[in-house]
Amino acid sequence: MSATLVMMVVTNTVGCGGIKSLILLSITFEGRNEARRKLRKYMENKYTVIAEKLLVEHNITVREYRKSMTGRAFIKERQIIVPHPTGKISLLIFCHEVGHIVIGETKPRFLEEYLAEKWAMDYFHKIGLRVPRTYVARAKRYISYKVRQAKRQGLTKSLGQEVYHFIK
Ligand SMILES: [Zn+2]
Repeated sequence: MSATLVMMVVTNTVGCGGIKSLILLSITFEGRNEARRKLRKYMENKYTVIAEKLLVEHNITVREYRKSMTGRAFIKERQIIVPHPTGKISLLIFCHEVGHIVIGETKPRFLEEYLAEKWAMDYFHKIGLRVPRTYVARAKRYISYKVRQAKRQGLTKSLGQEVYHFIK
């Protein structure tokens, strides 16, 4: 099977059943490494499509793509700085920043961050993607850090059960 034909099938394949049989076919004809490469490419493309759809849906533009796995949101300008969403973690960071804009400014900061994390993870569930454990751990660490910061400033009166439960 030629590479061009495989790529054509990839482009035209929608849904998980399709991609699975395609990968099996590719393993048979071209070996495991080539199949892995194609699956990675396909998934990268899938995540980018999800991200672009979010931008259009919420009228958001990307101010800058950065190399580091961190982001920023400019709520008033509806702009974000994000890593290229080519994997689950970078897509979650992307969704987190989109979440900030959809939710709007919230006080105190730890609550704003918690709500953005929740928005990103809820969105993943909504579209049927599993949130990697490493991301959940990262989110918990981040929110805990924000809560500690707020505690120093005496701002945790509004620390609700939900946030407390999440970082526990
Ligand atoms: Zn944030």
